Amino acid sequence: MRAVVVTPPERNSVQLMEIHEPEPKENEALLKILKVGIDATDREINDGYYGQPPEGSPYLVLGHEAVGIVEEIGGNVKSVSVGDIVVPTVRRPCVENCVNCRMGEVDMCTTGTFSEHGILKLHGFASDYAVSDADYLVKVPEEIKEEAIFLEPLSIVEKGLSQIFKIQERLVWEREDALVVGADPPGLLATIVLRLRGFNVLNMSRNRVESTKAKIVRDVGGEYLDERVNLFNTLDKKFDMVIEASGAASAALEACGMTKQNGIVCFLGLYREIQECEDFGKVFSNMTLGNRAAFGSVSSNKKHFEMGIKDLLEIKKKYPKVMTKLVSRELTPEKVTLGFKSDFEEIKTIINFQKK
Ligand SMILES: [Zn+2]
Repeated sequence: MRAVVVTPPERNSVQLMEIHEPEPKENEALLKILKVGIDATDREINDGYYGQPPEGSPYLVLGHEAVGIVEEIGGNVKSVSVGDIVVPTVRRPCVENCVNCRMGEVDMCTTGTFSEHGILKLHGFASDYAVSDADYLVKVPEEIKEEAIFLEPLSIVEKGLSQIFKIQERLVWEREDALVVGADPPGLLATIVLRLRGFNVLNMSRNRVESTKAKIVRDVGGEYLDERVNLFNTLDKKFDMVIEASGAASAALEACGMTKQNGIVCFLGLYREIQECEDFGKVFSNMTLGNRAAFGSVSSNKKHFEMGIKDLLEIKKKYPKVMTKLVSRELTPEKVTLGFKSDFEEIKTIINFQKK
């Protein structure tokens, strides 16, 4: 069968390879893969930043955003049946099986010895067929089969938002205004979900106001500003929550200063700049003096995928066309290397395993 593989830490190693079809063991399901999304993590693995093949394998099959159909089940599987449309979650419990992993909160693992499909010690789903532990598959209703390719990135947003609401139980929180920094899929998905929940949303990123990304923000009733021509400190309002999804350290630092009294900032990005920032002191004093909270959020668990399904159904009703606008291109597996040459205006590239 065809598989998209990499050999980290080698740079730019992504290629299509013929490998043996996997067989489902006890508690596992074999999936026929429909589509796989490419994201920043896949590109960083291909750039040699991280990624680790399973023990004994010379390569790692990529792909952690996927939709498939259950083709076959191993012994003892009760949670899914042959023919179900499913999205696999990414992270699996750690070697020590810590208390969080035991409780199904693998995203909150305390040991760091977890594994992740397509990233760390487990093959991903970018192949004609793939296996997953059946308990970590999320069933998808037929009506959102097309949109389900966004469920994994959406689950990251759902986790961030649910943590925000949990943390803000520290006070009586009247909230209406949200700032989202960044208009790649995490920023756009956060914008869409926050609009769904009734927030006034301002999205700021480094894209032109005529770009598709900016149009998507406006389509759901949000406001869009090009961060390059509208500086944060010239905005005439502050926000109850800030979602930092740009991955730019300078934007992240400025975003911290954009919260109202008692506000909260959630960081979803990875910051690789090594530039010095002089305003740290002012930003931190401001956090203290305003009872502001800031936290980081990574990964997600099955519960967040299920929240995402509910929201995808709602989004489809309220903004019927918006999710399809997030798809920039669908490639056959044979053209996969094109998907790793990212261009600025691109939103989501999908590898379609059923496309001829
Ligand atoms: Zn753990």
